[in-house]
Amino acid sequence: YSPVQNVKQSCFLLFLAMFSTFLFHYFISRTDVVSVTPWLAPIVWEGTFNPTLLDAVYYKKNISIAATVFAVGKYVMFLRNFLETLDQHFFAGFRVHVYVFTDQPKEVPKVKMAAGRELIVQPVPSSNRWQEISARRMEIIQKLIEEKIQNKVDYIFCLDVDSKFHDRWGTESLGGLVAVIHPGYYKNDRSKFPYERRTSSRAYVAPDEGDFYYCGGAFGGLIPEVLQLAKTCRKNFEDDAKEGIEAAWQEESHLNRYMWINKPSKVLSPEYLWQDFKQREAEIRTIRFSGVVKNYNDIRPN
Ligand code: UDP
Ligand code: MN
Repeated sequence: YSPVQNVKQSCFLLFLAMFSTFLFHYFISRTDVVSVTPWLAPIVWEGTFNPTLLDAVYYKKNISIAATVFAVGKYVMFLRNFLETLDQHFFAGFRVHVYVFTDQPKEVPKVKMAAGRELIVQPVPSSNRWQEISARRMEIIQKLIEEKIQNKVDYIFCLDVDSKFHDRWGTESLGGLVAVIHPGYYKNDRSKFPYERRTSSRAYVAPDEGDFYYCGGAFGGLIPEVLQLAKTCRKNFEDDAKEGIEAAWQEESHLNRYMWINKPSKVLSPEYLWQDFKQREAEIRTIRFSGVVKNYNDIRPN
């Protein structure tokens, strides 16, 4: 028995443990969640990417990102928290243009954005039906892209205002067409997804169809791809309306139909749109963006 030998052995074992932890974290980090779709799109979870490396890749490309958010009627009350946390966590260090669409431009808080980032307020009409506010989003996004940002910005994300950022949402989320898995349904079989099930609607998804149930509250991607999505969802929504049909979850239903036909090239885990009222689950290592608890009776016009 030699004490020196023993110390050497312990050091070696300690080194081995540290090295395998390192390997585990950087290369085979998640075995508890699925991190690729059957069509080989990444599903982004904390621990499946290297943020420093990704940022370096995109800094070189000098990209800029637009974010859209709607705050009509009482929803203006969500703006301050949304904008302040966005500035902290959403593509920190990159050029970001935030478009706020509101019926009360004077009520938009003057949140100071970091250098290279700007806040643009665009007036939109008021409405006394929340379904209509939600429905017109696609049309307004389409017009914004066609008229203002087509040749100015590389990527766009369209976000719900009744939410807050808590952690990084950055370059790992970039892709051609990007959708977020809904936190309420990621453990369910697709037969349980709340897709539009009436064949008469253009948002119809059959019981044996559908990949994931995606959120209407966050989606994005490259400008031409999101333009195509907005145009298609708007048209299908309007054509349905002409026949007196409103899909189960309005434009979220149309978005889900669109994503079934046009597979997203990147899928974001529910870390990218959690809900504050939901208890955190073991596989959720971080919550990046989350819907705040709200009382519908207090804030919606109908
Ligand atoms: N919205 C709005 N005013 C309204 C209703 C909705 O500005 O009166 C916008 C707002 O951006 C909101 C989004 O539409 O985040 C979607 O509505 P909501 O968040 O109420 O839907 P939920 O997330 O509860 O399904
Ligand atoms: Mn919402």
